[in-house]
Amino acid sequence: MSPHNLTPENKLTRITGLLSRHDFHHMGTEIIRSNPDHQFAILVMDIANFKSVNVLCSRQKGDELLIYIADFLRNYWNGLALVSHFRADTFAMLIPFTDKQELADLALAIHDHIDAFDLPFKILPSIGICIAPSPDTPANNMCDYATMAMKSIKGKFYAKYAFFDESMFNQLLEEKQIENEIINGIKANQIQAYIQPKVDMRTREIVGGEALVRWLHPTAGVISPGRFIPILEKNGLIIEVDFVVWTQVFSWISDRLKAGKRVVPISINISRMHAYDPVFKDRLIRLSREYEVPPSLVILELTESAFLSNTSIMYKRMVELRDYGFSLSMDDFGTGYSTMTMLKDQPVNEVKIDKGFIDNIEDTHAQVILNNITSMLKQLNKKIIVEGVETPFQQDFLVEHDCYNAQGFLYHKPMPVAEYEKLLDS
Ligand code: C2E
Ligand code: CA
Ligand code: CA
Repeated sequence: MSPHNLTPENKLTRITGLLSRHDFHHMGTEIIRSNPDHQFAILVMDIANFKSVNVLCSRQKGDELLIYIADFLRNYWNGLALVSHFRADTFAMLIPFTDKQELADLALAIHDHIDAFDLPFKILPSIGICIAPSPDTPANNMCDYATMAMKSIKGKFYAKYAFFDESMFNQLLEEKQIENEIINGIKANQIQAYIQPKVDMRTREIVGGEALVRWLHPTAGVISPGRFIPILEKNGLIIEVDFVVWTQVFSWISDRLKAGKRVVPISINISRMHAYDPVFKDRLIRLSREYEVPPSLVILELTESAFLSNTSIMYKRMVELRDYGFSLSMDDFGTGYSTMTMLKDQPVNEVKIDKGFIDNIEDTHAQVILNNITSMLKQLNKKIIVEGVETPFQQDFLVEHDCYNAQGFLYHKPMPVAEYEKLLDS
């Protein structure tokens, strides 16, 4: 094979002269299997900011660093231990051991060695360690587990290594289970919009609502979004689940309009993952047309990060949706990267003050902050809604300071749509 037709992986392996990933998996499995009287572990190491070495120093410096690391790791390579260069900045080792502390010491020794490499900034290697649960565990599975442990600390300068443990395993299992089940859940109508009423705190009158997704699981019961949305955001399925929730909301408002019943604006949540969905905007406009629901009856809630850069695609789409007639609401205000100046050219109609701002409103410092934020928002002509009102004290404080609309357990928890209807009709 000439150097020209080597795969990128082979080229890198050429640089360091270590085992390829494929050979490492193959030989590793064999060593673990044929030495049942030994305990083995696999270490996977990745450097969070390796690219900056290539970019800020030079490609050559990057290669030097990889060779420097490889030369150190090679010292451990013997009959029962293997060293591999998976790709770019990812290395792996198979190592026999008797005491877990040896593995921690090894990880620290690798860190110290890398630290000594001459660079104008600090690089951040992370090491994940998986101990072979049994002699018949394939090395590639162990690599997956070690990688998971590694990812749990990647880029955190205070954590140098992490062992894969049972809780990570259970988490992985649960994630896989949710991924497998949610598609059937969508088909079987287990995904349902609940609505949390928004009230005028002075009168407790219902002035709106927020649709919040629930998974009505046949055996596990009602599952809250906190448990499945982060997983769905990783695999993109959130786009489908959001669409299910939105459709239910449009269909419900449409039914009420046709029946001549009272309607109030309902908020729907827009995951930031829709930035990657080219038909996102059209889907919302189509829902509004198909169900003959005026866009003014639907409020689009996005977290503040979606509004960070006014050059982003998402920002442009949101402005177009607002021009079409939807209201925009900035969710979780104050929890992300928002700055005061950022608000000045915002297309949003409403700002939702995060629960964090009122949690300790007995504190005078918290009061000063809240007062200034709300008075600024008022001067900017933003509607204000406060989230997470739980106590009469919070309510009284807010009303005294001319904030009237809220959502919170003091009034109502999120509820099935049928229950919300009753409330609205009563
Ligand atoms: P969020 O959009 O900030 O929604 C408000 C959350 O605060 C809801 O939790 C609600 O039940 C909770 N909450 C309301 N009042 C109180 C209170 O007084 N005290 C306390 N402790 N909590 C209160 P939930 O329903 O578990 O939703 C959590 C998050 O999941 C939502 O936060 C939102 O980010 C996301 N989410 C929910 N439904 C959807 C959806 O259909 N699509 C997307 N993309 N995300 C959703
Ligand atoms: Ca929300
Ligand atoms: Ca919120």
